[in-house]
Amino acid sequence: MNVLIVYAHPERRSLNGALNDFAVQRLRDNGHTVQVSNLYEMNWKTTLDANDVRERSTDAPFHPSLDSKHAFANGLQSRDIEIEQDKLRWADALILQFPMWWFSMPAIMKGWFERVYAYGFAYGVGEHSDTHWGDRYGEGMMSGKRAMIIVTTGGWESHYDARGINGPMDDILFPIQHGMLFYPGFDVVPPFVVYRTSKMDETRFEATRDALGERLDTLWDNAPIAYRRQNHGDYRIPQLTLQDEHAAGQTGFAAHVE
Ligand code: FAD
Repeated sequence: MNVLIVYAHPERRSLNGALNDFAVQRLRDNGHTVQVSNLYEMNWKTTLDANDVRERSTDAPFHPSLDSKHAFANGLQSRDIEIEQDKLRWADALILQFPMWWFSMPAIMKGWFERVYAYGFAYGVGEHSDTHWGDRYGEGMMSGKRAMIIVTTGGWESHYDARGINGPMDDILFPIQHGMLFYPGFDVVPPFVVYRTSKMDETRFEATRDALGERLDTLWDNAPIAYRRQNHGDYRIPQLTLQDEHAAGQTGFAAHVE
């Protein structure tokens, strides 16, 4: 299988760097082909702007999504965006690896999504009508591919449990896992989270590495998170609210998981 790891950490000699080296080696040992988009090393351009479109007239105002649509459809996207899109087409699985920064991914990785996920590529795909609201949330360009997050945190596991002060980890990762991965069609397997990284020593590092190795060995076997698919009857269209018989009385992120 082909695995793309999109990796964001500014220092190679970090915990994330060590786990990234391990993950690449483990996947290769298992016979997979691996590419890493090391965003800091690539000096990835983080901001989405008019420079992302080649041969663009400066007369018209820049419109982030319509310019993206035009550039994608006409082969006028910036070359760095096209290269990452080709990697996504090539990949059978996408792994996002990052330290949690301010309850999300580092800005450089957010910028990868904003720029690489073009209109026509990751959104605005499929029929848009009163009966079919696009190929998304379970359908789309990434259908048939898997995705997994590897994330490290300073906070303890208990800080992220159902009643923890930071809020549940499933909720914190929902915008990424549901909004950025499930949306264009990825099957998202549960994340691999390393909590309380300041308490890492050799023994714990070995245990962490072993646990990560097991998750990578079973990347294609583990059941994906059972997010509800948009176009399979669970939601009213075009309101896109859950039908009354699903998750009755439940609100919030958890209602969107079967
Ligand atoms: P490092 O600092 O490189 O390492 C962590 C520990 O692992 C160190 O003790 C190191 O000695 C040890 N280690 C490293 N490599 C090895 C190795 N090969 N073998 C054995 N031990 C090793 N945390 C949250 O929980 N929520 C947040 O919202 C949040 N926001 C943040 C925002 C910012 C801007 C920053 C800078 C930090 C934030 N943090 C937050 C903390 C952050 O998530 C952690 O600092 C980060 O996950 C640690 O990962 P690292 O790769 O940088 O670890």
